Amino acid sequence: MKYVEDAPEAVLAAAKDMLRKGLVEGTAGNISARQQDGTIVITPSSVDYADMQLDDLVVIDIEGETLSSKDGRSPSSEKLLHLASYKAFDDIGSVIHSHPVHATMFAVTHQDIPACIDEFSIFVGGEVRCTEYAASGTTDVGEQAVKALEGRGAALIANHGMVAVGPHPAAALHITALVERSAHIVWGARALGSPLPLPDKVNEGFAAIYGYLRQNPL
Ligand code: 13P
Ligand code: ZN
Repeated sequence: MKYVEDAPEAVLAAAKDMLRKGLVEGTAGNISARQQDGTIVITPSSVDYADMQLDDLVVIDIEGETLSSKDGRSPSSEKLLHLASYKAFDDIGSVIHSHPVHATMFAVTHQDIPACIDEFSIFVGGEVRCTEYAASGTTDVGEQAVKALEGRGAALIANHGMVAVGPHPAAALHITALVERSAHIVWGARALGSPLPLPDKVNEGFAAIYGYLRQNPL
């Protein structure tokens, strides 16, 4: 089972960075990391990232029960999405849910983001699939996300945003930013003409490297 040594510090640092990079606004989105004992450190619900401190983070067990929280803070309302991802993928240490503008444009039109930028698949594994619609915060959203995440570092959540998984919060944030940048490029490229996909052989090669790196993170 993959876990993160410095889980609370890494979750808080990624949360501040996610806001700085404009991948969320206000209190939207959420970040978690798995600890060595299998518990999950997760951002609290509806707390502004700019003000968030280490002791605002909530610790939950894999079934979603709160183990520790300051002043009765609630864990993220998307905890079921995070927990479904950890249960399905033993090789991930962190989950990030965000609402980046361009990736969400694909999510609201239920379109996958094609893998048409060189080296994209090394970090993501292939095209970023969009889930079927499921209401925010439900078990369903976790089930749909797990299907779309199979063999991938990210998925789009229909009519909502995206989810990224990785060995560490910094890696999951890198994937989040890369997917958003790719969505922006593909959207612009469609205005210029028709983006051409990478040759299948190239994408297959990159996807194999993604698979290797997922098991053997740098
Ligand atoms: P939380 O503030 O409860 O984490 O929710 C934010 C969000 O993005 C809901 O989908
Ligand atoms: Zn959300």
